[in-house]
Amino acid sequence: MGYSKIIIGKTNGIKMINKNALDWLSNAYSSNRLAQAYVIVGPPRHEGQELVNHLLQLLFCENGENRPCGNCKSCNMADKHTHPDLQWIEPQKKSRIISADQVRTLQQQIYKTAFIADWKICVIIAADRMQKSAGNILLKTLEEPPANSVFFLLTDSPQFLLSTIRSRCQLVTASTKQQEIPNEWLEPLLKILTGRAGTGGIITAFARADQITTLLKDAKSKSMAIEKEIAKKANLDEKKEVLEARGSSRYRELRTGIMRAIMLWYRDILILTCGGAESTLYYNDQKQILCERAEKISYSQAVTNITMIENMTRQFERNMPEGRVLGTGLCKIIG
Ligand SMILES: [Zn+2]
Repeated sequence: MGYSKIIIGKTNGIKMINKNALDWLSNAYSSNRLAQAYVIVGPPRHEGQELVNHLLQLLFCENGENRPCGNCKSCNMADKHTHPDLQWIEPQKKSRIISADQVRTLQQQIYKTAFIADWKICVIIAADRMQKSAGNILLKTLEEPPANSVFFLLTDSPQFLLSTIRSRCQLVTASTKQQEIPNEWLEPLLKILTGRAGTGGIITAFARADQITTLLKDAKSKSMAIEKEIAKKANLDEKKEVLEARGSSRYRELRTGIMRAIMLWYRDILILTCGGAESTLYYNDQKQILCERAEKISYSQAVTNITMIENMTRQFERNMPEGRVLGTGLCKIIG
């Protein structure tokens, strides 16, 4: 399984250690140093849940050595989430929220003695979807945790967890693999990046800047709309500020992805301007256009392009006004 580059660290983020998460957690387990609670940052479906499943098997496996074996009854039950010592909560199907009742049930179960394992384990999928009341119940449980219990909170948006919960958990990043942006955004972006103006000439930097700015505006309003829709479906009477915060966090994540996709495009051009192998291109399907672009600009311009994109990304991270960042950055990217 591919957990090779996994970052582990405390949630205060002072020190992040690059290490294999499973190895690290296995060591913590075998030397009796498992933390009470972990926030696993990763997509609630793929890498994140794979990691959780492995951890469950590791802790529940009936074999003394080479854990988890993946074959014993406990490993199987862990894999199917049917192990009697496992409490597994996910957001409710319709509302997509985790209610106080769900966490209360978990709380009642966790204080009971374990049935067959040495542990009671709680897994909360998409933990950021906990309602505030649900979060408060969990917090109480984490403040006075039952012996031999471990909590795994899986989320792709740890910033939405109560900070009091976050501070009681160790942070594990399930995967350093960067999230690809959905095709819904990659396709129009590639259209802009590969775009030509007039008779085969390169689209002007200003025209491209306008188009990217418009694309980001669309991304922003769509992100806001998605959060509103989620709240509406769940019949949540969330405050306007909460919705806006969620929407803007969703947007910022998407914007990071879009900037990275732009970066990869100009990285490909840079590789070609210095004679790098075509096989290393990220946008291999666009090889021909990339080669044409690389022929038209100098190596130093290709480097400048990358620097400009890096600067913009940094400015976004510092929360500088988006309009200004885009206005001054995008038009300096040539080629
Ligand atoms: Zn096993």
